[in-house]
Amino acid sequence: MSIDLSVWEIVIGLEVHTELATRTKLFCSAPNEFGGEPNTNIDPLTLGLPGSLPVLNEQAVELAIRVGLALNCTIDRSVFSRKNYFYPDQPTNYQISQFDLPINGEGWLELPSGKVIGVERAHLEEDTGKSTHVGGGGRIHDATYSLVDYNRAGVPLLEIVGRPDLRSGDEARAYVSELRAILVAVGASDGKMEEGSLRVDCNVSVRKHGDAELGTRCEIKNINSLRSLGRAVDYEAERQIDMILAGERIEQQTRHWNEDEGRTLKLRSKEQADDYRYFPEPDLVDLAPSQEWIDRVRAALPILPAARRHRLCERSGADTAQAALIVERGLDDLCLAALDFGADPSRTITHAEHNLSDPKALELDPEMFAKLTNMDADGTLSSTQTKTVLAELVQLGGDPGAIADTHGFKAMDSGELDSVVDQLIAENPEQWQRFCEGDPKISGFFVGKVMKATQGQADGKVVAGLLADRVPNAAKE
Ligand code: ADP
Ligand code: MG
Repeated sequence: MSIDLSVWEIVIGLEVHTELATRTKLFCSAPNEFGGEPNTNIDPLTLGLPGSLPVLNEQAVELAIRVGLALNCTIDRSVFSRKNYFYPDQPTNYQISQFDLPINGEGWLELPSGKVIGVERAHLEEDTGKSTHVGGGGRIHDATYSLVDYNRAGVPLLEIVGRPDLRSGDEARAYVSELRAILVAVGASDGKMEEGSLRVDCNVSVRKHGDAELGTRCEIKNINSLRSLGRAVDYEAERQIDMILAGERIEQQTRHWNEDEGRTLKLRSKEQADDYRYFPEPDLVDLAPSQEWIDRVRAALPILPAARRHRLCERSGADTAQAALIVERGLDDLCLAALDFGADPSRTITHAEHNLSDPKALELDPEMFAKLTNMDADGTLSSTQTKTVLAELVQLGGDPGAIADTHGFKAMDSGELDSVVDQLIAENPEQWQRFCEGDPKISGFFVGKVMKATQGQADGKVVAGLLADRVPNAAKE
């Protein structure tokens, strides 16, 4: 990217639509399921047939409240409205959505970096059906004909509108990952971006550092992976900066991310506000969850990712990046349980960070893991040996001591190691001279020789210590 970030500031605000993991749709009993035969999960209401009336799905409301609480939002009295527009995948000719009075107001979430991102609102609405344009590269203008599938029409959505607090593609990605982790943790969504359970609209603008006003934004649709999100932000920011540098004005637009071409393309201008003729849905009453219901939902919330990261840092001394990775892999409970069994904290974190990426690691016996971290820490096993034992422990389970025995790994007693080191120094006087003179390259030479002589049983760090001990004091000054 060739943007001069010392001059320009990128500003991003995301609207994330998440399909709520209910059994049925938002206002009827048709199933909410992904991937069925087209037009099988439908009923009269889905199709907007005359006489059908909406009945609000209690589970959808409960999930919306869970997300609201997890995002530190206010839970408010809300009203469903009709948003009127025609589109073939929406047979009612309107979408029922919360407009000026959303269920969840003002909240925030914390990124692994510690930065707090504002959430403006999170409101309930219906999903639309799905059109497939056949021929002409899948675009409606050039298509020969279009197919429509109403299975998705009426599926409950929660639209989470974030504040424009994000400042880079990486930060936008971190926000979506965090939001996804929260949605999954509270059971609101399966978090599958590839199945459309989570859809991101990305608003991007640019301004110079120090400018008081935000720049004019463009909204990018059709981003369906975290990777695309980062790419789309970078591309769009650069496009806008190039325009400004060329003396042009940024027009507020809705743009489409084209993954293959790696660029955004104009869909429509958004200079005037769309007039959807919103009015309160006459077939539904206001939604006012009781305090007692809200309290019950709050009491049942699981511990959330940010709290899990903080807890891990406090208990183990992990840094924020380590904690983020370990919690993302779901290994924090294992680490905490191992610490309860007296595991060495620093080794526990190091192994969770570097040597436990295999999903099978989630099934590790914490007591055995703890035992291994101590064999590692007290020098019973070298770091290479520890890795071998750990890999086997993950795959097959068992006791680390027994696994070490089957490999013939045994503690080098220090006297044995001392004499190996002394002998090697005697055999290589020239190299030893250089070592004493502080040549940093030569240290590896000796460690390597010791490893060879001991068939990898010595611990590299211990050897380095023994070598350092033997440097005459005069040489150290
Ligand atoms: P719309 O109806 O146009 O989708 P919303 O209010 O639903 O508008 O969403 C606006 C989104 O755009 C929010 O996520 C907000 O953070 C973001 N946003 C607003 N202004 C800017 C800006 N100047 N630059 C980047 N993002 C912005
Ligand atoms: Mg919007």
